[in-house]
Amino acid sequence: MADKSKIEWTDSTWNPVRGCTKVSPGCMHCYAETFAERFRGVKGHPFEFGFDLRLIPEKLAEPLRWNQPRMIFVNSMSDLFHRDVPDHYIENVCRVMLAAKWHTYQVLTKRSERMRDLLKTKLHDAARASHIWWGVSVENKKQGIPRIGHLQEAPAAVRFLSVEPLIEDIGKINLRGLHWVIVGGESGHGARPIQPEWVKSIRDQCAKAKVPFFFKQWGGVRKHETGRTLDGRTYSEFPETVDHPVSTADERRAVLKELETSFAPA
Ligand code: SF4
Repeated sequence: MADKSKIEWTDSTWNPVRGCTKVSPGCMHCYAETFAERFRGVKGHPFEFGFDLRLIPEKLAEPLRWNQPRMIFVNSMSDLFHRDVPDHYIENVCRVMLAAKWHTYQVLTKRSERMRDLLKTKLHDAARASHIWWGVSVENKKQGIPRIGHLQEAPAAVRFLSVEPLIEDIGKINLRGLHWVIVGGESGHGARPIQPEWVKSIRDQCAKAKVPFFFKQWGGVRKHETGRTLDGRTYSEFPETVDHPVSTADERRAVLKELETSFAPA
């Protein structure tokens, strides 16, 4: 599968885990599930087992092989904090992100309590790294808003919200300690409609709190026709990124060898 992404707010995707299970209304039309299930039973295809959750250890070290800095969406086809992903595996993902620090990583979850608890403990070093951005999905008030609180309780250097698919007015939100907000409507067959007032309310709250705002899409059945213009302009703001130099080829080879040896089953 190509590592270049069509997602507007990232460059590449990295999937050391594939597959997931639904956890809240935002998952109803999960694009990852729809994509993965298309290939169930296709021998040798990365999604031969559809959307069943699987660890993909051979993908763990992939960012170390990319020698140009990229913005990387971690686990676009899963949720890193799913209960079936063991702590030690998440720690290995973090070891790679800390080693290949010339990239910027975007980790997004709906399992915000587990993320918070691990960022406070085993993932402490990764939490503090400003090239790793930690985010939660917020689709509605009931399940989405509590995730913001969990994120704020986590000792993360950079925190963000992905308010997508926005399926209702989420009202006033607490933006304390947040560094980025992405908003988008649902797309594809059966997409639940978004209202401009819901988006404008979030945009205006971000402007007031000086939080960068990214409007990804209106969505709908034909998202390319509805576009991403809001009040006559596009919003493509990002948090500040940090520049870390790319390690030399020799350094990268050495780290790769060390990490791959440590990832190998005993
Ligand atoms: S948590 Fe994300 S990847 Fe998992 S089912 Fe829900 S939308 Fe899909």
